[in-house]
Amino acid sequence: MNIPARMRAMVLERPGLPLSMREVSVPRPGADQVLVRVAACGVCRTDLHVVDGELANPRLPLVLGHEIVGRVAQTGERVERFQVGERVGVPWLGWTCGQCRFCRRGQENLCDAARFTGYTLDGGYAEYAVADQRSCFPLPAGYGDVDLAPLLCAGLIGYRTYRLAGEGVERLGIYGFGAAAHLIAQVAVSEGKRVYAFTRPGDAEGQAFARRVGAVWAGASTERPPEPLDAALIFAPVGALLLAALAATDKGGTVVCGGIHMSDIPSFPYRLLWEERVVRSVANLTRRDGEEFLALAPRVPIRTTVEPFLLEQANEALDRLRRGQLTGAAVLLI
Ligand SMILES: [Zn+2]
Ligand SMILES: [Zn+2]
Repeated sequence: MNIPARMRAMVLERPGLPLSMREVSVPRPGADQVLVRVAACGVCRTDLHVVDGELANPRLPLVLGHEIVGRVAQTGERVERFQVGERVGVPWLGWTCGQCRFCRRGQENLCDAARFTGYTLDGGYAEYAVADQRSCFPLPAGYGDVDLAPLLCAGLIGYRTYRLAGEGVERLGIYGFGAAAHLIAQVAVSEGKRVYAFTRPGDAEGQAFARRVGAVWAGASTERPPEPLDAALIFAPVGALLLAALAATDKGGTVVCGGIHMSDIPSFPYRLLWEERVVRSVANLTRRDGEEFLALAPRVPIRTTVEPFLLEQANEALDRLRRGQLTGAAVLLI
């Protein structure tokens, strides 16, 4: 494969500024890295948090993007898992140490020294990206590049969020019906659960979308569902939703916060938590989550709803996400 010296990338110079199109050097893969020719890269809410300065200490200047689908263009000398030409996915969790107490017990999502694609490592809003071979996933056949991109974060972290809701869930609430919710709702429905979708008040389009992907009920986040929930997943970055979700959740139920950032949670009376309700968060993903979810996706089969944008339209895609004007997931075509 012919690899050019320079490439186009949308670069964040400093939080608070829009991304700018730059010509930069094509990165060279280290010994354990693959160089990926990017075909598509999803736009995730976490990208928005980085741009808005809500996540501390990003690499700067930074290439965002951690839902990368592409083909291996070159391999480092120790790479064994992938060959040139193979299609791979690069997710958020970009590197882990393999040695810390968390890595040793299979919780590499909590690694003390973890590095993250499109945050502390350069990501996929570019024509090429490098990635550690151990963090990349082979991708299922039967999906186009664009349709796979949202599976790599919205899908993967959505899946971890869903799994952490625990066993025996029949009535599942989902707060914030965007990229992650529309994928996980399909998994939940395929496993026989009744899905209740909550959107911003007045978002009739979002509620119709939720019903299309299998929700039995869709309403405003200020409403109570027609029956109490066994578990609720929160994908919108709004702390007050935790209270609404707890109030809608039955005894012994679990509320899982799936986002990396949330506005402050207002104080609330103990009775909302009483009767063994559980509140927990989800951080990142493990390799096992990725392998399980990517094997599950074609069996459901999960259908992704995407809005495509060109690389140079990354700012527009981020703006639309910020304003809640996307149906499904935004994906950059590279
Ligand atoms: Zn993400
Ligand atoms: Zn570690």
